[in-house]
Amino acid sequence: MDDLLLDAARRGSRYLSTLRERSVAPTPDALARMHLLGGPLQDDPIDPAAVLAQLDELGSPATVATASGRYFGFVIGGSLPATVAANMLAAAWDQNAGLQTASPVAAELEKICRPWLASLLNFPEATEVGFATGATMANFTGLAAARHAVLADHGWDVESRGLFGAPPITVVVGEEVHASLLKALSMLGLGRDRVVRVPADHMGRFRADALPTISGPAIVCIQAGNVNSGAFDPARDICTRVQGRAWVHVDGAFGLWAAASPSKRHLTDGLDLADSWATDAHKWLNVPYDCGLVFVRERRHLNAAMAASAAYLIEGESRDPHLFVPEMSRRARGVEIWAALRSSGRSGIAALVDRTCAHAQRMASALRDAGHEVLNDVELNQVLVSFGSAEATERVIAGIQREGTCWCGGTVWKGRVAMRISVSSWATTDDDIDRSIAAIVGEARAVLG
Ligand SMILES: *Cc1c(COP(=O)(O)O)cnc(C)c1O
Repeated sequence: MDDLLLDAARRGSRYLSTLRERSVAPTPDALARMHLLGGPLQDDPIDPAAVLAQLDELGSPATVATASGRYFGFVIGGSLPATVAANMLAAAWDQNAGLQTASPVAAELEKICRPWLASLLNFPEATEVGFATGATMANFTGLAAARHAVLADHGWDVESRGLFGAPPITVVVGEEVHASLLKALSMLGLGRDRVVRVPADHMGRFRADALPTISGPAIVCIQAGNVNSGAFDPARDICTRVQGRAWVHVDGAFGLWAAASPSKRHLTDGLDLADSWATDAHKWLNVPYDCGLVFVRERRHLNAAMAASAAYLIEGESRDPHLFVPEMSRRARGVEIWAALRSSGRSGIAALVDRTCAHAQRMASALRDAGHEVLNDVELNQVLVSFGSAEATERVIAGIQREGTCWCGGTVWKGRVAMRISVSSWATTDDDIDRSIAAIVGEARAVLG
């Protein structure tokens, strides 16, 4: 085991240290060789060292270098050094984090992180947290707590009776709602198409003045950090208008982390008035996949929605992690969160947010200076750029992905095709930004002539 683990660590370290030289997207040759990992399953065992070597030789080149500082696709962070190392140690531990009795340390780390996270994100002190797989499941879990609470208020126990015959729940979302939130609503029996959609402004923000009149059981879903523009819905205005007549849920997959930076915190004004929040740790906090967080103001609603009991699930004295998320057996996600927060401290997290936002600003001004149109107000870490026509923009995006210096995806923003740049990684340096700007400007010149 010893040699094997040292070999894995050495290979992992070499992978990371050679990311600077390789193309961000895997080469066609690397993709073509992946099939060598397959073939019919052989009869006899193979030495684990040889298995690891094959995985590294064929698998590593076929990765997208999302851990490099020049990956700007979707909203994908890297992994802070302490979190990669902690993740390797935790793999050796192989803890089942569902129950405190099965893993005291996993349960304790979640307990320790709860008040740290609540204070970083500026939530009420008693806010509860569950460690889920990502923002999709965090949205699902927060909305399950919401479903429980608004129906309990109307005398209906949804966990025992289901939704058949229950009073209908009005669900309000903004026009720019993220697809994963609609997916969560569909999985909860709340339906993705029966929602009331509120129009958005030019940055994609929920127009609070268009909020419908609310009566009966209701859930209002708002967004902190639009996946394209990075914009925040006006939480204070919305929560004030709702005035306790609905449960307010916030999808803040990356935007919530703005609260950790004194210079960006103003964007999150009023979010503390909501009832539940979902965020990712694998995006802006830069922990390895997969890790999301759900927060609920009142623990009882979360526990009621996630309750499970059986004689053999001997419950620990304080906090069994499975009572806060859908999963029972699961990995110890608190390990990397703890390592990220412990190694960074408040100032380190604030610096990560500030640095990535500054990189986005710099990218936006350089592209503007080169004559290209930036379509959003760059308030956070997201930049949307047009290179003229839809066709030209699509060609620049395809070209930059092929060229390999960096990776940027595409989107359609307010009817216009745009390149989407998300700076979310701790690993991005000034040099990465300069090299990427040069590559994008060069590609645009080649396309536009
Ligand atoms: C990424 C994202 C999600 C989904 O998060 P996953 O981690 O992919 O499940 C939800 N909402 C917003 C705003 C996002 O950016």
